[in-house]
Order: sequence, then C-alpha cells, then structure tokens
Amino acid sequence: MGEKKTVKLIGIIQCDFAKERCSGFGCVNSFNLRIDSFTKYPKEGIMLVPFHCGGCPGRRISRVASNLIKRAKKKAEIEKAEITIHLASCIVTDNGHYPPCPHVDYIEKILKRKGLTVKKGSYKSKTASRRREEGLYEPFDWDG
Ligand code: SF4
Repeated sequence: MGEKKTVKLIGIIQCDFAKERCSGFGCVNSFNLRIDSFTKYPKEGIMLVPFHCGGCPGRRISRVASNLIKRAKKKAEIEKAEITIHLASCIVTDNGHYPPCPHVDYIEKILKRKGLTVKKGSYKSKTASRRREEGLYEPFDWDG
C-alpha cells in the first residue's frame, strides 16, 4: 500500500446545463459541512475551487485543470498530487436536472491524464435519493 495523500485542494466540476439554474450552493454547502460525498475529509486545511465544464463534451476542463494545477503550485504551494476533483452529482448521477452526463468517461480521462485524482459525487439531494429508492432514477454508488 502506498502512503496516503494529503488533500489540500478540492475542485468541484458542475455541468454547464445544470449550472443554468443551479447556484452551486448545495455542493459548496455539503463540502463546508463535510457531508454527502465529503465526509472523509478533515474539517480544516482544504481549499475549495468550484468550476464548470464549459459545455459538451467538457473540453474546457483540460484548460481549466492545467490552469488550476499551475496556480495552485505557484500561489499556494499545492502539488497536483494534493488536488482531488469531484465530478458534481449533476454530472455523475441520475437526478432532477438530467440523467448522468454522456461524456463522463471522457471528462474523467482528461483529468486523470493531468495527474489529478477524480471522485464522483458531491451534494446528495433528498428528492433524488427518494426517486432513486423508488427506482425512477438509476442507482448510484456514493462510496465508489
Ligand atoms: S459535458 Fe456533460 S457535464 Fe458538461 S454540459 Fe455536457 S452534459 Fe453537462
């Protein structure tokens, strides 16, 4: 087993279409409270940088991820190994916005090629969870 990495910066990427009606409050609030997809992180010492994909198929992410890696190193001495990117629930889950993003594998590949750690999920909506339990929405593994 390798040494456990310290996470010093978390990026949350939102879907551009979801962003048309979503302020992003739910994801940031879940991070602040360390609930939903953020329970495993320590309460202090992590910078949060939310951004969005730029529209299908998410190619903006390549440019923004490069910028993020560069700025984090230069301004805050954060190495890319200390950055984890969460693909927001609006991208990876079946939810009140839409079914999951059809480009999610492509987006994940872009980020991993940059050397970033990728996690799936952010805010866990109660309504979407209920609809998931009722079988209306696809299941989602929050621990995956
Ligand atoms: S690439 Fe995916 S996350 Fe980005 S706008 Fe299109 S559907 Fe949304």
